[in-house]
Amino acid sequence: MGPLPRRAARVIRNALAWRDTIRLVEDSYPWRNTRSPYPILVAEMLLRKTTAGQVVGVFDELMLRYPTPEKLAEARVGTLATLLRDLGLSGKRSVALKQVGKLLAERHGGVVPSDKTVLESLPHVGDYTASCVRVFGHGLTDVLLDSNTIRLYCRLLGLQRPRDPRRCPEIRSLSLAMARAAGNPARFNLAMLDLGRTTCTARKPACNLCPLRRDCHEVHQRARARRSTTRSS
Ligand code: SF4
Repeated sequence: MGPLPRRAARVIRNALAWRDTIRLVEDSYPWRNTRSPYPILVAEMLLRKTTAGQVVGVFDELMLRYPTPEKLAEARVGTLATLLRDLGLSGKRSVALKQVGKLLAERHGGVVPSDKTVLESLPHVGDYTASCVRVFGHGLTDVLLDSNTIRLYCRLLGLQRPRDPRRCPEIRSLSLAMARAAGNPARFNLAMLDLGRTTCTARKPACNLCPLRRDCHEVHQRARARRSTTRSS
């Protein structure tokens, strides 16, 4: 897997230290300030194809009206659709929310499960949402890959973007090993998600501000390329 695993401890340490020192507007979002799986599940269901800033008000209203899966199961789809309309979400999301409430109430005793396969069997719940629930709601170790963390891991490891990045064994095994070694998978995954989104951006990564630059394959590769250009000129 290349030289990075030997440096994984430093990557973990630096990512966590960075996350501890910065303050982001995202830190105030309600789903970041709970360790309860139900609100995390609802928030992630809303956050697909929307922005967090848009979702906050709707999320707060949903939690107020439907604080438990049982309450969500009793919701009228029309009411949910009205609440979700400002997010530009289709009626399918309202139907899915109600179905999730019903399934949780009827099959799981009103408890959000932690099993990945069971979570993924819920409507509108995919790999990322299921992992969020497991990591942030249940405190479990899991791989959490969105487009930002995939880009970050690819640069860190010097990988071309794989055809199916979420299933890329190098990325998955490294991410899992580091989340486990960090001792706090939620904190570690949050650090990597925030680093990918704010620093290792698609067009202009801020490598000079990145706490991982010492261990980043891409940074070393660029430095090598610069040295060889200087030598040959
Ligand atoms: S050093 Fe640059 S390319 Fe590497 S992970 Fe950080 S921001 Fe991304």
